[in-house]
Amino acid sequence: MTGPRDVVPDDLDAPFWDACLRSEFLVQRCGGCGRAYWPASSCPQHGAASMRWEPASGRGTVHTWTVYHHAYDRELADRVPYVLAVVELAEGPFFHTDLVGCDPADVRVGLPVEVVYDTVRPDVVVPRFRPCESPDEPGASYDEGND
Ligand SMILES: [Zn+2]
Repeated sequence: MTGPRDVVPDDLDAPFWDACLRSEFLVQRCGGCGRAYWPASSCPQHGAASMRWEPASGRGTVHTWTVYHHAYDRELADRVPYVLAVVELAEGPFFHTDLVGCDPADVRVGLPVEVVYDTVRPDVVVPRFRPCESPDEPGASYDEGND
């Protein structure tokens, strides 16, 4: 599977991408109000100093999605049709991602999904989401033949 060519962690999201290398999914949480964000440099009420990264469940539900039938990038031609989605994480934030391991016709609002980790380069692991029915099997790795 092709991966994004623009994964260049910055000071804000480097901990997130480092965690993906370890198959861990992080969100930022405010120590003042406890609200989770992804990503955020500061809480609107409590500022930046109260923010910290913490492990999240890697689970959520589909909030909205779209199916791409045309490969606007030649590197994505082998993936058409593919699904881009906004997943509402169990912790609250919305996460923009793609859905894997499902027929686009089966996607629906509220579909339970879980993170899978796709190693697109030795130094880049991209979190994607797949449908799940059992809450007992989170965080499996995803491999669609990319090496
Ligand atoms: Zn806060």
